[in-house]
Amino acid sequence: MAGYVDPIAAMDFLLQNTLSGHKEKVFPADGQTLRFYCCGPTVYGPAHIGNFRTFTIQDLFRRTAEAIGIRTCHVRNLTDVDDKTIRESQKAGLSLKAFTDQWTRRFEDDCKSLNLLEPHHSPSAVSHIPQQIELIQRLVDKGLAYKGQDGSVYFRISAFPAYGKLSGLCREGLVCNADGRLHSEDEYGKEDYSDFALWKAWKDEDGPNRWESPWGPGRPGWHIECSAMSMHYLGESYDVHSGGVDLVFPHHENEIAQSEGATGKPFARHWFHPTHLRVEGQKMSKSLGNLYTLEDIRARGFSPEELRYVLISGHFRQPLNFTWDSLHAARSALQRLHKFRSKLSPATPVVGQPAGSSIPEFGVWEPVMASLADDLNAAQALGRLFTLIPQAESALVSDPSGRESILAGFDRVMYAFGFRLEAETAPEGQLDIPADILALAEARWQAKQSRDWAKADALRLDLSSRGWVVKDTKDGYSLSPVAV
Ligand code: AMP
Ligand code: ZN
Repeated sequence: MAGYVDPIAAMDFLLQNTLSGHKEKVFPADGQTLRFYCCGPTVYGPAHIGNFRTFTIQDLFRRTAEAIGIRTCHVRNLTDVDDKTIRESQKAGLSLKAFTDQWTRRFEDDCKSLNLLEPHHSPSAVSHIPQQIELIQRLVDKGLAYKGQDGSVYFRISAFPAYGKLSGLCREGLVCNADGRLHSEDEYGKEDYSDFALWKAWKDEDGPNRWESPWGPGRPGWHIECSAMSMHYLGESYDVHSGGVDLVFPHHENEIAQSEGATGKPFARHWFHPTHLRVEGQKMSKSLGNLYTLEDIRARGFSPEELRYVLISGHFRQPLNFTWDSLHAARSALQRLHKFRSKLSPATPVVGQPAGSSIPEFGVWEPVMASLADDLNAAQALGRLFTLIPQAESALVSDPSGRESILAGFDRVMYAFGFRLEAETAPEGQLDIPADILALAEARWQAKQSRDWAKADALRLDLSSRGWVVKDTKDGYSLSPVAV
């Protein structure tokens, strides 16, 4: 477990708790280390910028805690066995391991580019099968789970009266609400419609992907992995649990039922759920062609840091609308921060954890940190930062001796935001595409989306007459200068 300061926070850190519906203080129950679990990606393809909104907000949460002096232990799992990973690995003609390893590496590379702190533990479901079997066995022994007629093992929701306490959905509501999310058609062995699978009996289409268990060969259900792995690394009761808002129900509700059902103890105390990212006002989806990855962002000449800026710039409990214009605005904002930082000192800004063993001082930046520590209000924090910068610049003109303390506070605040400020423009190897060219490419893309082929062709010609080639890619387009 990493940590860099005494576990004494410089200010209270408040965060809306989905479980209570109130803003509550974030603190380590053991007075030492904040134990924090995030549901990670399903590794069957590249993560999209919506997934990265959630992971980046979770990173902002951890960085904020650390910047104010709370030591953390962060666990984020990898879902490397489920229907999708099995199906897609078979389509790709690869073993499940070779297939998920490849997407895990891609995810880790993307996280590094976005400057997400590496979790202290990144356990995968396949490498924790015994822990999951053991937890299921505890539930069976307590009468909270049963083997169905189809050989799978199910959680008996009727035996857990607290079911629904996170999402506020009652059991009756679940049954009426059954919309396909609660059950799958091949789960025919259940006692009750709303019971969910803990262990899935092996089927022909699973191929070689099977593990032995007391209930026969099969594989774990999706929900059990997060209960088993979070309790394995963080203990049966821990501090904070997070995932995107779509996970509140049924995934997190099921995690609580499995964990508290087995242990009889409270599971995670504090829950937070970033709201979804939308693109140009629409839900992201493959069919709309707006499901962007980090690769798509780079292909249009923007840097991961510019994307990071956009992803954290709205309040995590409000939906965020991604637009290409917002990346332009992020570029200007980061350039302003970079300029200010270079004026203070030519040295590279701190990218690792700030050093120090006493209660952190934020100096003139205290209002910025106070916004982050008040329900992760990054929008307000950035607003305050840009108001304070010119004030700090004037203060330095009249009293240059304050430079070091302003710099130390600024670097700590940059650590919290996760900005490296390494370059004023896109990183090396990335194109800095002029704004008017980007605007033309965008207009062409929009024309294509509305099937106005004549307009799209005219815009392509316009771009090439200005020296730029536009190429369509799987999920969007890329721009490159005409070779001379
Ligand atoms: P998955 O790989 O589908 O399990 O998702 C990984 C994480 O991304 C989960 O916490 C999801 O809740 C979250 N997520 C999925 N779609 C979006 C979106 N459009 N905006 C924000 N978060 C999302
Ligand atoms: Zn999970």
